[in-house]
Amino acid sequence: MKQAPLSTLFNLAVIPRKPRRVMMHFTDAGPGHPNWASFKCAKCGGVKETHTATNADLKRGIPCSSCNEDLNTTG
Ligand SMILES: [Zn+2]
Repeated sequence: MKQAPLSTLFNLAVIPRKPRRVMMHFTDAGPGHPNWASFKCAKCGGVKETHTATNADLKRGIPCSSCNEDLNTTG
């Protein structure tokens, strides 16, 4: 007997997973300006400097704008 998938067994809707975001990780954070940091994307090599970096941005990274273009259009 073939086993039914759990989604049909419990009559659950299959929720499609969101694709992973590509994150840029910080390469430099300096005391020259408040909250200044430089981020680099490991996938496309893009570099971005920002003056609004928080501690969470430094730890987690920020989403790469060019690698996530298709994600941004789909919402
Ligand atoms: Zn990128």
